[in-house]
Amino acid sequence: MKNLSPKDLVFIVTGTLSFMLLVVLYALTRLAGTELPIWVILGIPAINFIIGYFLLSALLEKFIYRRIKVIYKTINNLKAPKNAQPLAVNITDDILGNVEREVVDWTKRQTQEIEKLKSSDNYRKEFIGDVSHELKTPIFNMQGYLHTLIDGGLYDEKINKSYLYKASLNLDRLGAIVEDLETISQLETNALMLDIRKFDFIRMAKEVLDSLEMQADLRDIKLVFKDNTLKTLAVMGDKERIRQVVTNLLTNSIKYGKAGGTTSVGIYDMHDNILIELTDNGIGIAEEHLPRLFERFYRVDKSRARDQGGTGLGLAIVKHIIEAHHQTINVRSTVGVGSTFGFTLKKA
Ligand code: ADP
Repeated sequence: MKNLSPKDLVFIVTGTLSFMLLVVLYALTRLAGTELPIWVILGIPAINFIIGYFLLSALLEKFIYRRIKVIYKTINNLKAPKNAQPLAVNITDDILGNVEREVVDWTKRQTQEIEKLKSSDNYRKEFIGDVSHELKTPIFNMQGYLHTLIDGGLYDEKINKSYLYKASLNLDRLGAIVEDLETISQLETNALMLDIRKFDFIRMAKEVLDSLEMQADLRDIKLVFKDNTLKTLAVMGDKERIRQVVTNLLTNSIKYGKAGGTTSVGIYDMHDNILIELTDNGIGIAEEHLPRLFERFYRVDKSRARDQGGTGLGLAIVKHIIEAHHQTINVRSTVGVGSTFGFTLKKA
């Protein structure tokens, strides 16, 4: 019954009426005693059926079906790709059932679409709020130092050099934030095309370790490979982006590591992939922060992170890069013991 087409419906209605007419005519001949010829008893319902069928079909087509067809076609064309063939709909189709299905389907899609738009709108609003908040601090600091210098501090030997130096540090911080924001926006809009090639991970990681040696020395932290026997390891990826991942993770291990501590790089075979783990024995991160750690501007200890010159975007960038490679990243950490950040890369 559910999947009846309008034609079927007209057929059943006129058929039932004609049958009832047949029964009435038959009963009349019996009760009134007037013997009607058999061709009259059969002919009148038959004519009633034919006329009724065409009349009802025409009325249905004119007043209901054509209008529903327009709705059906509109919904269908909205869903279909632009260059799709126009939809052919016949009165013999189960159009009411189709319209119901299409409308339910369409409503679901529209609801999902609206939810997606709402969440991206929220994301945009939050992002603008976060960005202006992050930019405010260094700008206000610079304003403070520079205005003090302009207002006479320039001639005060006790502060002039140190205020200029502090203003320049804030300018560096501003530059770092803008640079990281640019990277994030490129990664989020997919404008950044990855240059996937085969490269030697060990060699690249050694270069990063060397470049951070001075920074690590300042905090008396050693950067080492867990297994020194591994000399080369060919992987597939965007070398410069992966270099950025290793740099960001190692820089964090120095910033949040314990003085006199060690950060080690471990490499593990996982069939098609390799797992790279960077382990420090620094301050660690409490369990409740771990799920949000890779969000942009998320910091565990806000003042400490800012003191260390962090932009709060390092881990968000790392996650974007690894996910753009269709690989995964995870973190394990215990407060006071240390943290391990692990990510995978495809073997070449
Ligand atoms: P930031 O620029 O603040 O370092 P990140 O995105 O790189 O931003 O890191 C986010 C936060 O995660 C940091 O502020 C810090 O609280 C925490 N964090 C990152 N790496 C480590 C680590 N190795 N040990 C302890 N905490 C860490």
